[in-house]
Amino acid sequence: MGSYSVPNKPHAVCIPYPAQGHVNPMLMVAKLLHFKGFHITFVNTEYNQKRLLNIRGPHALNGLPDFRFETVPDGLPPPDIIATQDIPTLCDSTSKHCLTPFRQLLARLNVSSGIPPVTCIVSDGCMSFTLEAAQELGIPDVLFWTPGACGFLAYCHYRQLIEKGFTPLKDETYMTNGYLDTVIDWIPGMKNIRIRDLPSFVRTTDPNDIMLNFLATESERSAKASAIMVNTFDELEHDVVKVLSSIFPKLYTIGPLHLLLNHIPQSSPLSSISSNLWKEEPQCLQWLDSKEPKSVVYVNFGSITVMTANQLVEFAWGLANSKQPFFWIIRPDLVKGDSAILPPEFIEETKERSLMASWSPQESVLNHTAIGGFLTHSGWNSTIESISSGVPMISWPFFAEQQTNCRFACTQWGTGMEIDNDVKRDEVEKLVRELMEGVKGMEMREKAMEFKKKAEEAAMLNGSSFVNLENLIKEVLL
Ligand code: UDP
Repeated sequence: MGSYSVPNKPHAVCIPYPAQGHVNPMLMVAKLLHFKGFHITFVNTEYNQKRLLNIRGPHALNGLPDFRFETVPDGLPPPDIIATQDIPTLCDSTSKHCLTPFRQLLARLNVSSGIPPVTCIVSDGCMSFTLEAAQELGIPDVLFWTPGACGFLAYCHYRQLIEKGFTPLKDETYMTNGYLDTVIDWIPGMKNIRIRDLPSFVRTTDPNDIMLNFLATESERSAKASAIMVNTFDELEHDVVKVLSSIFPKLYTIGPLHLLLNHIPQSSPLSSISSNLWKEEPQCLQWLDSKEPKSVVYVNFGSITVMTANQLVEFAWGLANSKQPFFWIIRPDLVKGDSAILPPEFIEETKERSLMASWSPQESVLNHTAIGGFLTHSGWNSTIESISSGVPMISWPFFAEQQTNCRFACTQWGTGMEIDNDVKRDEVEKLVRELMEGVKGMEMREKAMEFKKKAEEAAMLNGSSFVNLENLIKEVLL
């Protein structure tokens, strides 16, 4: 019997939290580590893996001999329709049910022939159960927090907010009696932050609220990680990064990840591997080609936001009345419990200057010269993609740390304007006009262009994020 040779490579197991805004950046981290010589095992949940295979065909996740996909169950019955899973249910389930299958997977990988033993784990900050598995194997576990540094810093203060009695709220009246405008002045690095700007799970009256307790616990457990990484760059969030580094001495800012990916040659077989859970409609890029520079409003609320049928109609008429060309992504599950139906008069009136699709290649869209502004829910990935493309934003935050991102965009970076949660067509019209034609819009675009340059500098050879990634690999992962 001849002996097989196991390639002598470090082996990173990358496990994202199973939602779109977490899987995308983790796939980028995995590709970068592969580029740096790691063998990669990328772990999806069974449900997400099935979705990816359905959309992209059976060969989509074949990967390479040294970049493999594996699965663990998320512990939930598969949903009836293809949709975003309920986030609290998913958090509850992954934290209770994923450790055992994850442990079994690691054990299986470690006895598999032809692949090197697992040498490190890179897991989402919201999948901290992996710390236990890493400890058992005596290998490092780096936690990747996919919110920005500002959102993560706020989560790190959830426990104190509970202990000081700021949350849970005493009763429902606190949602509307001005309490949410209370300024919290004791979180270092967060000037003039109000309760309404903190990640939205503080807006509960239930002491047992799953998300409040989940995020308090997950952020606390981060202290046990070998290191923390965040998809941001120092020039954008220096104050909060400084505070976070005092809490976590091994904190590495490695963003914007999508710019770091430019170091990997286009010809790499990995460049075709995508983690989009919806089918992209790339024809939109041709439509954008036909539009004037900076003339189109891009409208996209990410993968989780839902709205009422009425809110959809208000956005629609606001966009129509603004008279600006727009490209609007309407996911099939965007409207709560209903299908998204737009008024026929709206379709008729805007057909010459609008395009609608259900999912877009967002990075390419934001980088297209025709895009002049972004109406967004302010998810972190969308925020950093927009800023690093030099595109100013109107923000309609939905949940989680989107409120914090919106606040920072509006008050710290000068790249955003907020739209009222109770959205009305007149305000949409006014803000869209301001974004595309107004003085404020122009100023925001200038700011965003400055950050674009700084983002590019951070990601270039010897830029801060480039160096941080190299250091993370040298100091922690190898
Ligand atoms: N995305 C995309 N096409 C779309 C909508 C979203 O490619 O039509 C990507 C987007 O580029 C980002 C992610 O999906 O990387 C969404 O993450 P984000 O943090 O912005 O929001 P979430 O979906 O988590 O609310």
